[in-house]
Amino acid sequence: MLKDNLHKVQTQIAEALSRRTETKLTGDKVTLVAVTKNHPVDVVLESLALGVTNIGENRVQEAKEKRTIVPDRGFWHLIGHLQTNKAKQAVTLFDLIESADSEHLLAALDKAAGQQHKQQDILLQLNIAREEQKTGFLIEDYLAILPQLDDYKNLCVRGLMVIAPLCGDIEETRPVFKEGYRCFCELRAQRPGIELLSMGMTHDFTVAVEEGANIVRVGTALFGKRDYSKNK
Ligand SMILES: *Cc1c(COP(=O)(O)O)cnc(C)c1O
Repeated sequence: MLKDNLHKVQTQIAEALSRRTETKLTGDKVTLVAVTKNHPVDVVLESLALGVTNIGENRVQEAKEKRTIVPDRGFWHLIGHLQTNKAKQAVTLFDLIESADSEHLLAALDKAAGQQHKQQDILLQLNIAREEQKTGFLIEDYLAILPQLDDYKNLCVRGLMVIAPLCGDIEETRPVFKEGYRCFCELRAQRPGIELLSMGMTHDFTVAVEEGANIVRVGTALFGKRDYSKNK
Protein backbone atom coordinates (compact mmCIF):
# COMPACT_ATOMS: atom_id res chain seq x y z
CA MET A 1 0.00 0.00 0.00
CA LEU A 2 2.81 2.40 0.81
CA LYS A 3 4.21 1.55 -2.59
CA ASP A 4 0.96 2.64 -4.29
CA ASN A 5 0.68 5.79 -2.19
CA LEU A 6 4.26 6.67 -2.96
CA HIS A 7 3.71 6.19 -6.65
CA LYS A 8 0.65 8.44 -6.51
CA VAL A 9 2.44 11.22 -4.62
CA GLN A 10 5.44 11.06 -6.94
CA THR A 11 3.14 11.26 -9.96
CA GLN A 12 1.35 14.28 -8.50
CA ILE A 13 4.71 15.96 -7.85
CA ALA A 14 5.82 15.32 -11.43
CA GLU A 15 2.53 16.68 -12.80
CA ALA A 16 2.77 19.78 -10.61
CA LEU A 17 6.34 20.32 -11.80
CA SER A 18 5.18 20.19 -15.41
CA ARG A 19 2.63 22.93 -14.65
CA ARG A 20 5.30 25.35 -13.44
CA THR A 21 5.33 28.27 -15.78
CA GLU A 22 7.90 30.88 -14.84
CA THR A 23 11.57 30.03 -14.73
CA LYS A 24 12.10 28.68 -11.30
CA LEU A 25 15.24 29.32 -9.32
CA THR A 26 14.55 26.24 -7.23
CA GLY A 27 15.45 23.88 -10.06
CA ASP A 28 13.41 21.10 -11.60
CA LYS A 29 13.67 18.44 -8.92
CA VAL A 30 11.56 18.05 -5.79
CA THR A 31 12.71 16.15 -2.73
CA LEU A 32 9.98 14.18 -1.03
CA VAL A 33 10.35 14.08 2.74
CA ALA A 34 8.39 11.17 4.21
CA VAL A 35 6.91 12.48 7.46
CA THR A 36 6.94 9.48 9.79
CA LYS A 37 5.96 11.27 13.01
CA ASN A 38 3.49 9.35 15.16
CA HIS A 39 4.06 6.24 13.12
CA PRO A 40 6.17 3.28 14.23
CA VAL A 41 9.75 2.82 13.09
CA ASP A 42 8.59 0.13 10.64
CA VAL A 43 7.26 2.92 8.49
CA VAL A 44 10.77 4.41 8.31
CA LEU A 45 12.20 1.05 7.32
CA GLU A 46 9.54 0.52 4.67
CA SER A 47 10.18 3.97 3.23
CA LEU A 48 13.92 3.38 3.08
CA ALA A 49 13.33 0.02 1.39
CA LEU A 50 11.33 1.84 -1.30
CA GLY A 51 14.12 4.31 -1.87
CA VAL A 52 12.71 7.25 0.10
CA THR A 53 15.72 8.44 2.04
CA ASN A 54 14.48 11.76 3.42
CA ILE A 55 12.67 11.23 6.71
CA GLY A 56 10.78 13.96 8.59
CA GLU A 57 10.13 13.95 12.32
CA ASN A 58 8.75 16.70 14.53
CA ARG A 59 9.88 15.62 17.99
CA VAL A 60 13.39 15.00 19.30
CA GLN A 61 12.43 12.12 21.58
CA GLU A 62 10.59 10.20 18.89
CA ALA A 63 13.39 10.74 16.37
CA LYS A 64 15.92 9.56 18.93
CA GLU A 65 14.02 6.30 19.49
CA LYS A 66 13.81 5.70 15.76
CA ARG A 67 17.42 6.56 15.10
CA THR A 68 18.52 4.11 17.76
CA ILE A 69 16.99 1.42 15.56
CA VAL A 70 18.03 3.03 12.25
CA PRO A 71 21.31 4.72 13.18
CA ASP A 72 23.05 5.09 9.88
CA ARG A 73 20.47 5.27 7.15
CA GLY A 74 18.30 8.11 5.93
CA PHE A 75 18.66 11.86 5.79
CA TRP A 76 16.72 13.19 8.77
CA HIS A 77 14.76 16.45 8.77
CA LEU A 78 13.44 18.14 11.88
CA ILE A 79 10.17 19.79 10.91
CA GLY A 80 8.64 20.66 14.30
CA HIS A 81 9.15 23.47 16.77
CA LEU A 82 12.23 22.91 18.90
CA GLN A 83 12.77 24.07 22.45
CA THR A 84 16.19 25.59 23.01
CA ASN A 85 16.98 23.09 25.76
CA LYS A 86 16.78 20.33 23.14
CA ALA A 87 19.10 22.04 20.67
CA LYS A 88 22.00 19.75 21.56
CA GLN A 89 20.04 16.57 20.88
CA ALA A 90 18.59 18.01 17.69
CA VAL A 91 22.08 18.78 16.36
CA THR A 92 23.12 15.21 17.14
CA LEU A 93 20.07 13.68 15.48
CA PHE A 94 19.18 15.74 12.43
CA ASP A 95 20.88 16.38 9.10
CA LEU A 96 18.65 19.35 8.31
CA ILE A 97 16.77 21.40 10.90
CA GLU A 98 13.93 22.94 8.88
CA SER A 99 12.20 24.58 11.82
CA ALA A 100 14.71 27.20 12.94
CA ASP A 101 12.08 29.71 14.02
CA SER A 102 13.58 32.24 16.43
CA GLU A 103 16.77 34.16 17.10
CA HIS A 104 16.97 32.50 20.47
CA LEU A 105 16.93 29.07 18.85
CA LEU A 106 19.54 30.05 16.23
CA ALA A 107 21.91 31.01 19.04
CA ALA A 108 21.27 27.73 20.88
CA LEU A 109 21.76 25.64 17.72
CA ASP A 110 24.95 27.51 16.85
CA LYS A 111 26.38 26.85 20.29
CA ALA A 112 25.39 23.17 20.22
CA ALA A 113 26.83 22.69 16.74
CA GLY A 114 30.09 24.34 17.83
CA GLN A 115 30.38 21.96 20.77
CA GLN A 116 29.81 18.99 18.48
CA HIS A 117 32.19 20.30 15.80
CA LYS A 118 29.38 20.14 13.28
CA GLN A 119 28.30 22.53 10.56
CA GLN A 120 24.54 22.30 11.06
CA ASP A 121 22.37 22.81 7.99
CA ILE A 122 19.19 24.72 8.78
CA LEU A 123 16.22 26.36 7.09
CA LEU A 124 14.64 29.50 8.46
CA GLN A 125 10.95 28.89 9.08
CA LEU A 126 8.73 31.77 8.04
CA ASN A 127 5.25 32.48 9.37
CA ILE A 128 4.08 34.20 6.22
CA ALA A 129 0.36 34.13 7.01
CA ARG A 130 1.07 35.55 10.49
CA GLU A 131 -0.87 32.78 12.20
CA GLU A 132 -0.78 33.30 15.94
CA GLN A 133 -0.87 29.62 16.79
CA LYS A 134 2.14 28.88 14.59
CA THR A 135 5.83 29.49 15.14
CA GLY A 136 8.21 30.83 12.53
CA PHE A 137 9.70 34.26 11.89
CA LEU A 138 7.34 37.05 10.97
CA ILE A 139 8.66 38.67 7.81
CA GLU A 140 9.90 41.79 9.56
CA ASP A 141 11.78 39.74 12.18
CA TYR A 142 13.26 37.56 9.46
CA LEU A 143 14.47 40.61 7.53
CA ALA A 144 15.94 42.04 10.73
CA ILE A 145 18.06 38.94 11.50
CA LEU A 146 19.43 38.47 7.97
CA PRO A 147 22.46 40.74 8.49
CA GLN A 148 23.43 38.74 11.60
CA LEU A 149 23.29 35.25 10.12
CA ASP A 150 27.02 35.16 9.45
CA ASP A 151 27.66 35.54 13.17
CA TYR A 152 26.43 31.97 13.64
CA LYS A 153 29.66 30.34 12.55
CA ASN A 154 28.45 26.78 13.03
CA LEU A 155 25.17 27.12 11.16
CA CYS A 156 24.74 26.88 7.44
CA VAL A 157 21.50 28.50 6.27
CA ARG A 158 20.33 26.51 3.26
CA GLY A 159 16.97 28.12 2.59
CA LEU A 160 13.44 28.61 3.88
CA MET A 161 10.57 26.55 5.23
CA VAL A 162 6.95 27.63 4.99
CA ILE A 163 3.75 26.12 6.40
CA ALA A 164 0.57 27.45 4.79
CA PRO A 165 -2.64 27.86 6.77
CA LEU A 166 -5.07 24.96 6.58
CA CYS A 167 -7.67 26.14 4.07
CA GLY A 168 -10.83 24.52 2.77
CA ASP A 169 -9.87 25.63 -0.73
CA ILE A 170 -6.20 24.96 -1.44
CA GLU A 171 -6.13 27.83 -3.93
CA GLU A 172 -6.14 30.08 -0.86
CA THR A 173 -2.68 28.76 0.01
CA ARG A 174 -1.24 29.88 -3.32
CA PRO A 175 -0.43 33.50 -2.32
CA VAL A 176 1.41 32.19 0.76
CA PHE A 177 3.59 29.89 -1.35
CA LYS A 178 4.15 32.66 -3.91
CA GLU A 179 5.42 34.88 -1.12
CA GLY A 180 7.63 32.04 0.15
CA TYR A 181 9.17 31.72 -3.29
CA ARG A 182 9.68 35.48 -3.55
CA CYS A 183 11.49 35.52 -0.18
CA PHE A 184 13.60 32.57 -1.33
CA CYS A 185 14.67 34.39 -4.50
CA GLU A 186 15.65 37.49 -2.54
CA LEU A 187 17.63 35.48 -0.03
CA ARG A 188 19.33 33.54 -2.78
CA ALA A 189 20.45 36.77 -4.41
CA GLN A 190 22.00 37.90 -1.11
CA ARG A 191 23.73 34.83 0.26
CA PRO A 192 25.70 31.86 -1.05
CA GLY A 193 24.45 28.34 -0.35
CA ILE A 194 20.72 29.10 -0.52
CA GLU A 195 19.05 26.35 -2.48
CA LEU A 196 16.23 24.77 -0.49
CA LEU A 197 12.59 25.86 -0.30
CA SER A 198 10.47 23.51 1.79
CA MET A 199 6.75 24.12 1.27
CA GLY A 200 3.70 21.91 1.08
CA MET A 201 2.23 18.94 2.92
CA THR A 202 -0.46 16.37 2.10
CA HIS A 203 -3.32 18.76 1.38
CA ASP A 204 -1.38 21.44 -0.48
CA PHE A 205 1.91 20.06 -1.86
CA THR A 206 0.79 20.24 -5.48
CA VAL A 207 0.17 23.99 -5.22
CA ALA A 208 3.46 24.40 -3.34
CA VAL A 209 5.38 22.62 -6.11
CA GLU A 210 3.65 24.73 -8.77
CA GLU A 211 4.83 27.80 -6.86
CA GLY A 212 8.45 26.69 -6.62
CA ALA A 213 8.90 24.35 -3.63
CA ASN A 214 11.79 21.92 -4.02
CA ILE A 215 11.12 20.06 -0.78
CA VAL A 216 7.66 18.78 0.17
CA ARG A 217 6.86 17.20 3.53
CA VAL A 218 4.23 14.51 3.20
CA GLY A 219 2.86 12.20 5.88
CA THR A 220 -0.84 11.38 5.60
CA ALA A 221 -0.87 10.80 1.82
CA LEU A 222 1.83 8.15 2.28
CA PHE A 223 1.02 6.51 5.59
CA GLY A 224 -2.62 7.33 6.31
CA LYS A 225 -3.96 9.17 9.33
CA ARG A 226 -1.79 9.46 12.41
CA ASP A 227 -2.93 7.90 15.67
CA TYR A 228 -2.42 10.52 18.36
CA SER A 229 -4.08 8.45 21.08
CA LYS A 230 -0.73 6.85 21.82
CA ASN A 231 0.66 10.21 22.99
CA LYS A 232 0.14 10.85 26.62
C1 LIG B 1 3.04 16.80 10.20
C2 LIG B 1 3.71 17.75 9.33
C3 LIG B 1 3.75 17.55 7.94
C4 LIG B 1 3.05 16.40 7.23
O1 LIG B 1 1.68 16.58 7.30
P1 LIG B 1 0.66 15.71 6.41
O2 LIG B 1 -0.52 16.58 6.32
O3 LIG B 1 0.41 14.46 7.16
O4 LIG B 1 1.30 15.47 5.11
C5 LIG B 1 4.44 18.47 7.17
N1 LIG B 1 5.06 19.52 7.71
C6 LIG B 1 5.04 19.76 9.04
C7 LIG B 1 5.75 20.95 9.56
C8 LIG B 1 4.37 18.89 9.88
O5 LIG B 1 4.36 19.13 11.20
